[in-house]
This record gives sequence, structure tokens and C-alpha cells, in this order.
Amino acid sequence: MPKLIPVPDELSKPFWEAVNQKRLVLQHCGACNKLQYPPQAACQVCNSAAQLTWKETQGRGHIATSIVIEDGRLNRRMPDQPYNLAMITLDEDPRVNFYSNLPGTPPYKVPVGAAVAVTFEEVAPGQLIHEWQVVA
Ligand SMILES: [Zn+2]
Repeated sequence: MPKLIPVPDELSKPFWEAVNQKRLVLQHCGACNKLQYPPQAACQVCNSAAQLTWKETQGRGHIATSIVIEDGRLNRRMPDQPYNLAMITLDEDPRVNFYSNLPGTPPYKVPVGAAVAVTFEEVAPGQLIHEWQVVA
């Protein structure tokens, strides 16, 4: 399935560099002890920018909800329809969400509530992206 190829900017560069090393690192705010994703210039909880650092996560989560894209408008994804779009909550901070196509899980068969683990897919030479897979 073709995926969007990330274009790292100054803010997201550490995130994508870690992904290329098969690590999931998120911004951590030392002022309020929260994780956040996607990367932002300041903490979205307490608005502090002074204590944002990068923290490696366990890369574990759960499926909060899921839909199947049957009639999406993204041209490059149309040949793959129907496909899953699941919302993942991160175990270490369930406020942090990711969206996933859940590779390996057929459409309409998503086990909502199940545990998932991060995985990495190459979308261009030398560029990985993070994805999520159901863990047995
Ligand atoms: Zn904060």
C-alpha cells in the first residue's frame, strides 16, 4: 500500500531520524511530565517550551477505535480501498494518538481494544515510517 513519504522539518527531524533507526521517540515535557505527538514548538498541555526533550517509548498501544475507508478521496490510496484506519492510544500516555492502517489485519476485522506494537515500514529508500500491528 503506498504511504505518504514524510518530509521532515526542523521540528520533526529528531522524530524521523529515530524512526529510521526503528525507535519511537516522542516529545516529553519536563514541566508537566506529558508526552506529545506530533512534534510541536511548545507543550500542548502547559504551553511550556523550555523543557521539551525527546524520550524513547516502548512503542506499545491499544486500538481505541477503527473505521474502514471505502470511498476516500486520496487518489494514491484509492486502489487499496477498502482499508483500515485505526486510532491507536499509546500505553505510556493514552492522550497520545496515532493513526494506523494496521498492516496484517484485514478490513472489517479490526479487534478494537486489542494490544498493538509499533513496527516500521520502508516507504522510500532510506526512509522508514512507523506503523502498528496487532500483537498476538
Ligand atoms: Zn507541559
